[in-house]
Amino acid sequence: MKNRLWHDRAATLNFDGRAFIDGHRKWALSEKTFDNQSPVDGRRLGKIARCEAADIDLAVAAARRALNDGRWAGLAPAARKRVLIRFADLVQKYGEELALLETLDMGKPIKYSLSVDVNATANCLRWYGEAIDKIYDEIAPTAADSLALITREPVGVVGAIVPWNYPMIMAAWKIAPALAAGNSVILKPSEKSPLTAMRLADIALEAGIPSGVFNVVPGFGHEAGAALALHMDVDCIGFTGSTKIGKQILQMAGMSNLKRAWTELGGKSANIVCADCPDLDAAVAAAIGSIYFNQGESCNAPSRLFVESSVKDRFLEKALAMIPLFQPGDPLDEDSIMGAIVDATQLNSVMAYISAGTREGAKLLAGGIQLKAESGGYYIAPTLFDEVNNEMKIAREEIFGPVLSVIGFTDINDAIRQANDTPYGLQAAIWTADLSRAINISRALRAGTVHVNQYDGDDITVPFGGIKQSGNGRDKSLHAFDKYTELKTTWIRIT
Ligand code: NAD
Repeated sequence: MKNRLWHDRAATLNFDGRAFIDGHRKWALSEKTFDNQSPVDGRRLGKIARCEAADIDLAVAAARRALNDGRWAGLAPAARKRVLIRFADLVQKYGEELALLETLDMGKPIKYSLSVDVNATANCLRWYGEAIDKIYDEIAPTAADSLALITREPVGVVGAIVPWNYPMIMAAWKIAPALAAGNSVILKPSEKSPLTAMRLADIALEAGIPSGVFNVVPGFGHEAGAALALHMDVDCIGFTGSTKIGKQILQMAGMSNLKRAWTELGGKSANIVCADCPDLDAAVAAAIGSIYFNQGESCNAPSRLFVESSVKDRFLEKALAMIPLFQPGDPLDEDSIMGAIVDATQLNSVMAYISAGTREGAKLLAGGIQLKAESGGYYIAPTLFDEVNNEMKIAREEIFGPVLSVIGFTDINDAIRQANDTPYGLQAAIWTADLSRAINISRALRAGTVHVNQYDGDDITVPFGGIKQSGNGRDKSLHAFDKYTELKTTWIRIT
């Protein structure tokens, strides 16, 4: 039985909870650890090294040594490319093990850990590996008797701090361009989901990344994360996480050594469906599929749905017919498409938002309850509120769970105004058959990405990131190299 297969593998799974510093596995210097618990059924998975400032010092020193002696940065781009492609191949080779770790650690369905997380991670490593020997430096047309070379150099020692919702993919979005560009990297995974990041350390070593170039330091944010962000010998922090912590990261970067700090933060994305939507079924499938994918724990989830009043009843009827497909199942069952919420804290936070929605007068049309509590895991029914207004807490704050807020509109300009009336600016979508109208609305929407008649546009070639309080950087695409390289100008006199 498919279901049994993954349970049997889970029962015999081993992992190494030690940090990975300078090519070696190590417990924290303090010997402190923390427990890792699975949201699937509450089982204790094992203990993880609780790194603190002293461990970060070791990792930074190792990363600096590796940078200075050129064991990685000094290689030709084509040589780094070969290693990164081997890294990608090995991620694929160990894909089933990585997928199982991801599912046990953060609760997403095994179907998606295999098909999305493993593949996207390998693809990202391969793509940046492939890209790095195809980027050329520039010569500026200055004067007849001089040349100015404009070259890209690695920024240096890069700290990557990532969240728990796509642990491997978020790590890959940072480490792949940073390593490709020749930097040394210290990865701080989320304390809620460190397992795949730690396994990636062994895989990187097997692929041929030299010791000290890639280090993984598990631990808590206020300890390991803050030590990295405050470190005087870290040149750059790539951060993905909440807006609250992103603001602190920028402060820490500023008050330490003014290191480069790039933040990819939260969202409250607006999905606007006009009455002239060319395919209402497709709009319903995208709205429902995108909010409940990954249990709603996606930064770009379209959590505010604006529907023109004349089609709202029809839209909701179709949406309610689709929602039962997203009932949470056992994440280790290959047929499940919705899994467990990452932990009890997150579950309680989402349930508190659901109570706030009801209290503030939104109409609960689906879900709103915790499920499968007897499993020991954390599950919430796919939830839909109608009659939301944009001032309610559920429309203003990022819930990061399977909760959709529906807001009706009659005037598109008012819908655009409300869509923009949020501190966030990550993504948005507009559904209309009129292309000029779509472009005008897209121009008016303040978001890093706008989708037209879809919500699933996603490719490694395309930048991903937000404006306003959704952050200041872009992951993916060639633009990510801007984060992990510095421009150097060299003037040469021609005599
Ligand atoms: P979080 O901000 O709580 O934690 C993110 C990381 O920062 C973790 O590794 C954590 O340990 C660390 N951290 C926490 N406190 C810290 C501190 N004081 N100093 C340094 N590091 C610290 O976020 P989370 O709950 O892990 O992730 C969810 C958030 O991430 C959501 O807001 C989501 O929208 C956002 N996110 C954004 C994107 C994007 O690309 N924009 C992608 C995924 C997730």
